[in-house]
Amino acid sequence: MTNQVPDISRVKSATLYEKAKNYFPGGVNSPVRAFKSVYGTPLFIERGDKAHLWDADGNEFIDYCCSWGPLILGHNNIEIREAVSAQLHKGLSFGAPTQLENTLAELIISNNRYVDKIRFVSSGTEAVMSAIRLARGYTKRDKIVKFEGCYHGHSDSLLVKAGSGLVTFGETSSAGVPKAFADETIVIALNDIAALDKVFSDFEGQIAAVIIEGIPANNGLLIQDKAYIQYLRDITTSNGSLLIFDEVITGFRLGFEGAAKHYDVQPDILTYGKIIGGGMPVGAYGASNDIMGYISPDGGVYQAGTLSGNPVAMAAGIATLTILSQPGFYEKLEETTSTFVSRIRDFIREKNYPVSIFTIGSIFWFAFATDKKIQRADQIDPSSMEKYKVMHRELLNRGIYFGPSGYEVGFISAAHTPEDLETTHFAIREALEAVFV
Ligand code: PLP
Repeated sequence: MTNQVPDISRVKSATLYEKAKNYFPGGVNSPVRAFKSVYGTPLFIERGDKAHLWDADGNEFIDYCCSWGPLILGHNNIEIREAVSAQLHKGLSFGAPTQLENTLAELIISNNRYVDKIRFVSSGTEAVMSAIRLARGYTKRDKIVKFEGCYHGHSDSLLVKAGSGLVTFGETSSAGVPKAFADETIVIALNDIAALDKVFSDFEGQIAAVIIEGIPANNGLLIQDKAYIQYLRDITTSNGSLLIFDEVITGFRLGFEGAAKHYDVQPDILTYGKIIGGGMPVGAYGASNDIMGYISPDGGVYQAGTLSGNPVAMAAGIATLTILSQPGFYEKLEETTSTFVSRIRDFIREKNYPVSIFTIGSIFWFAFATDKKIQRADQIDPSSMEKYKVMHRELLNRGIYFGPSGYEVGFISAAHTPEDLETTHFAIREALEAVFV
């Protein structure tokens, strides 16, 4: 028998949502927030503190979405808050260089062997879009290869999904993307060496870059084998193409050197976002001095931004990375996460539930499947998302906030206390009992 708990009240959120629909398409400013893949009205959040969130109806949650990854220190971190408020008194934006940019860049570059120079932008989308332009400008080639199941933001070249067949030109995955753009992007499956070989033979001399999420974490958590990533490195090098690691999620989440260090592979261009802004809108792309020399004003690849290197965002990023650079920070977070995950796995095993939890660093993902490895998008059964929907509702009813889609990963922050994790552990047990009742 499962412990029945009543549904949380969503009266105020529902009223706000109805109003929001008058202002925004679907009532939201980013589609997944509309809760289309889970039950009920989206929750309108009022405030956050440490690992906790409060919504407009006064419901309190322990948060595992963490603003989709940036909040590795939780909400309302005092050091970030003080750094941001100190900057607020000095000015919000100057459109001119500041020392803050130097400081944040130094924190990133001096702790990261994979980049010599970076450029700050205002979002992950912008970082990736600029990295693609840089790769094209550097190689003087046009085609890009991406992987089914990797998300790189919403720029035209990357809103492309696989066509049918082993290697095909992509098809647009959004209305409004010209077919001519999609024709420049080739989409292949992850973890498929034959597809990589074929793409480089079919499009010899035409591929500017292959882009991959450091650890693909936008369509489940698709952890790749080191040998595969090394193959990707080798085949791009031998064909004169660049390898782009999109580390918007994994950068500073798996450590300062992200997935590049995890695989021990040197990408040509890396993109960052999320954590480096400490919750403010920031992105960055970086590469060797040689490649970055192609960016304007030094080189001919144009890229600019009114609010790039915004001082308030830089202040938040500096405060964040200063804390993350303390010895042992990542080791502790990883240990906390792996203990949390192992205890749930033990419960799942005891109950014999068809659920697997994949994890790396402080990222975790529940798959409603028993597979030992899920490394490609097509290995995820879409019908399993129905189970996630039930789990999501049951967790919200027990004060636990997971992302509103079963394809999204969860994040543990340094603000999650042992008590938070204990409460969550028992809530997950009950939620799973409700899923498999
Ligand atoms: N790249 C990756 C790997 C992401 O996860 C995201 C967003 O989730 C982006 C790029 C786009 O970043 P943003 O939403 O800041 O534009």
